[in-house]
Amino acid sequence: MTSVPELTMSRSALRSNIAAVAAQIAPSRLMLVVKDDAYRHGLEWTIDAADQVHWFGAYDVVTALRVRALRPDARVFAWALATHDEIGRAIESDVDLGVGTMDYLQRVIDTASRLGLVARVHLKIDTGLHRNGVRPEQWPAFVAAAMQAQRSGVLRVVGAWSHLSEASDADDDESADVFRTATAALRDAGADLEVEHLTASAASWWRPELRGSICRVGAFCYGIRSGDGPQIPGVVPVATLSARAERVGGEGVEVGIGSLHGLPSTLTGQPVATPGGVRSILSIGPHSSVVEGWDGAAVGDRVLIHGPGDQGEADVTALGERIDSIGEEIALRLSPRVRRTVVD
Ligand SMILES: *Cc1c(COP(=O)(O)O)cnc(C)c1O
Repeated sequence: MTSVPELTMSRSALRSNIAAVAAQIAPSRLMLVVKDDAYRHGLEWTIDAADQVHWFGAYDVVTALRVRALRPDARVFAWALATHDEIGRAIESDVDLGVGTMDYLQRVIDTASRLGLVARVHLKIDTGLHRNGVRPEQWPAFVAAAMQAQRSGVLRVVGAWSHLSEASDADDDESADVFRTATAALRDAGADLEVEHLTASAASWWRPELRGSICRVGAFCYGIRSGDGPQIPGVVPVATLSARAERVGGEGVEVGIGSLHGLPSTLTGQPVATPGGVRSILSIGPHSSVVEGWDGAAVGDRVLIHGPGDQGEADVTALGERIDSIGEEIALRLSPRVRRTVVD
């Protein structure tokens, strides 16, 4: 019988990260991004702990409705393309929709008309990322269609937004120019915008001149720094991943975490924290891994795979970097089988 690995999450760390991000970006306000089940930290307790936050970024409508159920007064933003049915439920639940194609705009208009309700929308300009968003040359027609629908009472254009590539400061500056021009055109067309938003964690923190009235921040609130990026002052990892020593002897200590729990098998060589100090992972199997031994190793000892670093363990971004990726990949790959525990 093997134990399951454990992801231990600190409520106070999440709350103090949120406070640090909010202070850094002020007077812009924080939109806490909670997609992917709050980066696999677990949506419900995250929302509960984030009681000082007014805006939530959900990605999809299903997540947005879960947020709405917990926070009747918050503003919730969903920007993934949704079905007619989801759009309807979003409008009924006062969820703001991100709209970045003419097609989708039409779908939102149709749904709101059918329900006799007013949809709150944030229009998305494509500032160069080519992910989704309206190209600058199509922006005037898109704005005209949205404002026409606003005048007929089926939607309200409450926001303008885009997403940066964060490939270089120069790229982001250019995108910000496109964004400002598009936003000005939207205002000229009569939109009374409540919010403008452009930046995610890194640009929100480091590039004050790019911040809109709100900043969409996920990673930094969970204490996940950017790949190849510095530690963020006042921000600590919320989650600690640990596993239990199952067998001692042979070439090392077998611990109860493997690739089927979401630990990439290419992380061999990664330093982890043991009760006897920092040791390397020697091999990673499907259900368990072998770690270099330490003095006095005993079954039941806990090995920290990543965390805030108090015992010498790396942070989740360092694990991502080891496999030429980012911390989010390590966080998001973690299997639901890993036990989640929230502590104060
Ligand atoms: C995920 C996401 C964010 C948050 O990014 P972080 O780097 O985690 O802060 C912001 N905006 C959009 C559109 C996203 O998809």
